[in-house]
This record gives sequence, C-alpha cells and structure tokens, in this order.
Amino acid sequence: MTEEPGYILEIKNLNYSYDNRTNVLNNINLRIKKGEKIAVLGANGAGKSTLFLNMNGVYNSNSGEIYLHQTKITRKNINMLRKSAGYVFQEPDSQIVGSTVFGEVSFGLSNLKLPPDEIKEKTIKVLKEMGLYNYKDMPPHYLSGGEKKRVAIAGVIAMEPEIILFDEPMSSLDPGNSQMFENLLKKLENEEKTIIISTHNTDFAYRWAGRIIVMDKGNIIADNTPIKIFTSEEILKTANLGKPLLLQVYEIIKEKYGKNIMDYGNAPRCINEFAEWFCHL
Ligand code: ADP
Repeated sequence: MTEEPGYILEIKNLNYSYDNRTNVLNNINLRIKKGEKIAVLGANGAGKSTLFLNMNGVYNSNSGEIYLHQTKITRKNINMLRKSAGYVFQEPDSQIVGSTVFGEVSFGLSNLKLPPDEIKEKTIKVLKEMGLYNYKDMPPHYLSGGEKKRVAIAGVIAMEPEIILFDEPMSSLDPGNSQMFENLLKKLENEEKTIIISTHNTDFAYRWAGRIIVMDKGNIIADNTPIKIFTSEEILKTANLGKPLLLQVYEIIKEKYGKNIMDYGNAPRCINEFAEWFCHL
C-alpha cells in the first residue's frame, strides 16, 4: 500500500521497547520531507537515540510502520533504510571499527562491494573534505576526540546517505571542530540532504533548524517551528529546555522599547540578523 506522496520518511504509530515490557518510544508519528533540517530536543533518556536507531533500521520494532519514499520497511527490505539513513553515534568509539582512518572511512563502501578504485576515490574525497587526509594511515584511537568524531562523520557521509541522523554531534567538540561541523552542515544542506540532529544546545537548534521536535519520556510532545517551540513556556518547562540566548535578549529589548508589543515575526535567529534588527530599532 502506498502512502501520501512527498515524504522521504514517514513513521506511523511506532512503539519500541528494549525489554518487551516498558516502552521507551510511545506511539511516534512523524512525516519528514526531503531537505528538512530538524533538531530533536529532550532530556537524557527521552528516547532520541532510540528513535534515531529505529529511523535508520538498526532497531526494527514490530509495532508500528516506517515508510521510505512511500515504501513500507519490512525485515526483507530493511537494508534499503540502512543505506538511505546514515547514523552518526554520539560517541565515536561506539562506531569506529577500522584499524586505520582510511580503513574506517572506506568500511561502509567496502561493504557495498563497490569496485576498489571507486572506494579509494570516494574515501580520499571525503578525507580531504573533512580535513583528515593527513591522518589516513593512522589508527583512529591515536586521534583526539574531535578528530575521531570527524572520522565517524566521514565514514557515514562517504556512503552518501540521503538522510543523516547526528546524535548530539557537538557534545565533545571544541569551537574549531564545532565551526567545521557547521560548515559541513551547510555543504550537506546545499546537497539537499535531510538532516536530523539531536542536541541539548538550544542556541544552535534555534539558529539552525527549520523544525524542532521535542521528546519527553518516549513521547513527542511538540513538533513545530523554532520560534513556536521556544516561545512556549509550557514546552520549555515540561522538557526542561533553556530559552536561546538571542531570543532572551530580543524579548528583553522588546519589552523595554517595543511599546509592550511582543511580536516574533522579525525575531532574529543569528547574530547577524540580530545586529541588523538592532540597528533598525
Ligand atoms: P536519549 O537519546 O534521549 O538520551 P535513549 O534513547 O538513549 O534516550 O534512551 C531512552 C531510554 O531507553 C532510557 O531509559 C535508556 O535507559 C533506555 N535504553 C537506551 N538504550 C538501551 C539499551 N540498549 N538497553 C536497554 N535500555 C536502553
């Protein structure tokens, strides 16, 4: 049976339990379009990683349905989902298996049984893009946390998935590596990848995402635009989320000088937008 067209990924009534008793995902329903930039927020244990691992076919719940390009995912065709949706683990050590950086980044391509020349070409391209070429012969465990994270990301993007799931990608990155990650996101966006990122960084989510999904205790409690999410005191309180700094400053200035009219139509999303808005006040 086909679903409504237009969605790259659709999840219907998905439940997931690790022990066949307690659900860690409760009746998840999501429709995701190609090219969307989605941030998933929620406290530790809310179910974000479990949802991602269902979205890329590592876990296969027998309760609920997942459709990729309107094709229902079953045990028989689950490799289709695994190939289309790349998952970057929060901890690179959970993901890295190769004995060299080159071996790690080419691992997935080798599994696809591509011709050796093509594997080499694609791996070198990604190593260069990720600033890892000079490390190619090194064992990954000799690298710093940030470099290992880049290796883990490189291994996933080498496979050219159309959906990329990043699990707390910035949690262990220094400012230089964070900037590099944001530059990579821009490149992936230009390639029209669908990008889904779990994060605790509400400043980043506010600035980057087109859509925010908030999870609490295995449930999706909100799914809306950043401005709608971060201006709902109820959602912020329930999911224990901090309001993005830029929005706080905007509200304070509006309150003082805005004749008590709190509209969010022009609320700045990044520092440049803020500076422009402020100069026009
Ligand atoms: P988040 O990514 O939001 O921190 P997780 O998906 O990691 O949340 O965890 C959701 C719940 O599932 C938590 O209660 C966690 O303890 C539990 N959990 C996660 N992984 C496993 C596992 N492999 N086995 C059993 N329980 C797990």
